[in-house]
Amino acid sequence: MGSFLNVVIFRLPRRESLISPPSRCLSCGQRLGVVDLVPVLSYIALLGRCRHCGRRYSPRYMFVELATGLCALGAWHVFGPNLRAVLGFVAVSCLIVIFFIDLDHFIIPDEAVAIIAGVGVVLDVMRMLERGGQAMVVFDERLSAAVHYTVLLPRSLVGAAVGAGLFVAIAFVAERLFRRPAMGWGDVKLAGAMGAILGPGFQFLTFFLLAVVTGAVVGVVCMLVGSCGRRDYLPFGPMLAASGVAMIYFGDVLTPAVMSRFLVM
Ligand SMILES: [Zn+2]
Repeated sequence: MGSFLNVVIFRLPRRESLISPPSRCLSCGQRLGVVDLVPVLSYIALLGRCRHCGRRYSPRYMFVELATGLCALGAWHVFGPNLRAVLGFVAVSCLIVIFFIDLDHFIIPDEAVAIIAGVGVVLDVMRMLERGGQAMVVFDERLSAAVHYTVLLPRSLVGAAVGAGLFVAIAFVAERLFRRPAMGWGDVKLAGAMGAILGPGFQFLTFFLLAVVTGAVVGVVCMLVGSCGRRDYLPFGPMLAASGVAMIYFGDVLTPAVMSRFLVM
């Protein structure tokens, strides 16, 4: 899966097929054999070089494979051997892809966002089948003694709407404050997809705050190190993706911990 994600990260923004042709060396075009394609190990064994022409490859390929493997292990550990673990891992894999593609190309691919939203809806349907109305968002409004509205709505759809809506509002305000685009449509769509997974409550708020804090820390560190200036553009997608992975695995622990810093809970 990690090897495949590397292929997706490289080929998806270039609109190339993810299946064919098989992986080749980017320098000499030599087709990679079974020996070259063993995740992590072949990178270490060949010291990150092509076996045929000696071109050096970024350790990032190995890092993605390692991180993907650890995330699969994490899904097993957190959710147990069940469908939830598989779905969680699929969403996390999409977030890994988004992390690197946005870093490289300033794009958040719609395909990955759509899969995350789909995972959110499927998880929601599973919850509704298990717990019925308890798993839904309840709007309870008493207008008068005689008129009493109760509306049950799917948590994933309300979460997607609230998540995307919040980001549109922030983008609108930030653009007027800083007089330049602060967030892209890709960020808005990703926020909607994560809203489908996390729901419209404190989990989503925690996801957003973690991404903002991470972004601020990374931005300040980048400026101190001198790798970017005050007016450089730092993509928000990687922060959202990192925060999303953290929330999928540790949402239950992170939400009260983060919220208690901002609200009294
Ligand atoms: Zn080569």
